[in-house]
Amino acid sequence: MKIIIIGAGIACVSAIKAIRLQNKDIKITVYGEETYYPYKRIRLTKDLASGIQESSLLVEKQSWYEENKVTIYKEKKVIRINPSAHRIYLSDGTVDEYTALLLANGASNLVLPIKGVEKENVFTLRNLLDAQVILEQAEKSKKVLMIGGGILGLEIAWSLTKLGKKVTIVEALPELMSRQLDERASAILKKVVEAHGVVVHTGSQVKELTGNRRVEGFITDQNLSQSCEMVIHCTGIRPNIQLVEDTGIQINRGIVVNNRMETNLPDIYAAGDVAEYQGAIPGLWSVASLQGEIAGSNIAGIRRVYDVPAAATVMNAFHYTMFSICVVDDSAADIVLIDQPKENKYRKILFRDEEMIGAVFMGSIKELPSVKRAMENKARFPEVYDRNMQVSDFQNLLQEKQSKKELQPAGAASVGK
Ligand SMILES: Cc1cc2nc3c(=O)[nH]c(=O)nc-3n(C[C@H](O)[C@H](O)[C@H](O)COP(=O)(O)OP(=O)(O)OC[C@H]3O[C@@H](n4cnc5c(N)ncnc54)[C@H](O)[C@@H]3O)c2cc1C
Repeated sequence: MKIIIIGAGIACVSAIKAIRLQNKDIKITVYGEETYYPYKRIRLTKDLASGIQESSLLVEKQSWYEENKVTIYKEKKVIRINPSAHRIYLSDGTVDEYTALLLANGASNLVLPIKGVEKENVFTLRNLLDAQVILEQAEKSKKVLMIGGGILGLEIAWSLTKLGKKVTIVEALPELMSRQLDERASAILKKVVEAHGVVVHTGSQVKELTGNRRVEGFITDQNLSQSCEMVIHCTGIRPNIQLVEDTGIQINRGIVVNNRMETNLPDIYAAGDVAEYQGAIPGLWSVASLQGEIAGSNIAGIRRVYDVPAAATVMNAFHYTMFSICVVDDSAADIVLIDQPKENKYRKILFRDEEMIGAVFMGSIKELPSVKRAMENKARFPEVYDRNMQVSDFQNLLQEKQSKKELQPAGAASVGK
């Protein structure tokens, strides 16, 4: 038996671990397009200001792959798959054969078709090389435009602010981090970000990047015109599905998988940012890791199913912390506890049918483990409906349940940042 994994990211590493847990001998070969062993992609935004070093980012050391008898090829791009022949084809002309194939080839960043986007010094941050190029250009730049006010855009804005850059964020939607926050939370976040000198324009779109060969400025649909020496695009991801187009593998926005991470074709699995499960592509590290683990177990013959985890988005930037988990839209809940104890603090917990379905905590993240555990345990809180409960009362209740061991540490579905 021979397993081929396409893409050397976290989904790949988790799959290897799950396979080796069951079987020490199956042949595993990994083809990765990048120059590096799998590394912690999530650190790229956070470590930008302190310098990006491959050695400090690696998920596992090189020796780990040798010890686990994994053949890992770097700078090898797979360009075609032939499912009926169980073969893959590489850009250098090599052909390889598999018994089982795991598509763990991730996603790329979306780049909007803005006029002038092809100019020099317009970047997007997906990989380590991008981070190095961005840092080099940042050294020569004073003013930076960030297109997109999501979590990655904000983390990059913070890193560049720490490097002394003057950052402007232009976000098309009316709020920052609108996927994860409600209006109140976004308003707090905007205030926090602006307090550090970042200029934020929400509800506004960049319609042109100006300059000759290099970018020199931008114009928005509100006719704001400003100069900048570099631009970073942070407007979401696009799963790398081109590889499987016309292969018979079912695709939608991503590669469609069932709860065992199987595609519609036998012996072909997908996991991580490239995979779409029940219409969702969360684009989160913890989810990619868990999906890789589930795929690896099933490939190794151990039946395991994916239970959608309570995945959280955490931000620790601008000397401020916050998290958001699952549902934050009040209309999905039958009861919502809200508390805004002081400036820049805000807590909201949503319930439906006695279960917690989501939460936003602005100004604190220490509550995340217990909130996550309660959600993953599908714990019931009828008390919330019986009395006029405040967020602080609920936190006490949560603590009480935990000390009575009514909430078990999350099991297979548990994911950590
Ligand atoms: C800058 C940044 C910061 C992030 N921060 C967070 C965070 O704080 N929290 C969080 O939860 N998530 C974060 N994410 C998202 C998280 O990193 C991803 O969800 C996760 O890395 C997905 O893992 P993956 O293994 O599915 O794919 P990837 O990490 O994308 O790895 C796929 C690999 O496959 C390679 N590949 C693609 N096509 C081919 C091919 N044809 N042949 C060979 N190799 C190929 C790619 O080059 C890549 O190396 C961040 C993402 C980025 C870009």
